[in-house]
Amino acid sequence: MLPRGDGDGWACCALGHKHWGLFGAAGLLLWHRGSVLLQHRALWSHHGGTWGLLGGARNRAESAEQAAQREAAEEAGLADDSYEVTGAFVDDHGGWSYTTVVARAHAAVLPTGLTGETLEVRWVRVEDLHDLPLHPGFAATWETVRAIA
Ligand SMILES: [Zn+2]
Repeated sequence: MLPRGDGDGWACCALGHKHWGLFGAAGLLLWHRGSVLLQHRALWSHHGGTWGLLGGARNRAESAEQAAQREAAEEAGLADDSYEVTGAFVDDHGGWSYTTVVARAHAAVLPTGLTGETLEVRWVRVEDLHDLPLHPGFAATWETVRAIA
């Protein structure tokens, strides 16, 4: 079992949503050529069954980039030297924010060590993205974050 982070918990934002992460949350948008690495979320999780980014709650002392990198390592075994961070986008809801950390993989790494939060992690070609049921938060920011790479 991984230790629980001090950011684990539900928060409400100024827009009236309920979000996971007392200090906000962060996710890793990892690119390799024309594909992005997506996580198929476990059915019991918030928005279960949808596809989104590896990521999760930020801990109190963590930057968004550190949180995204830690979660990608915990959820898919991604070493932080297997990719290069190229940018970030902060979706600030007021009192809660989600940071998408954009990165480029050195190779089409195969995810390992998946946890119970994950049904599958897969490289998805950008043109096939909308064939999948996307996590609403990811879907809402996709057109913005895809331009950052
Ligand atoms: Zn919100």
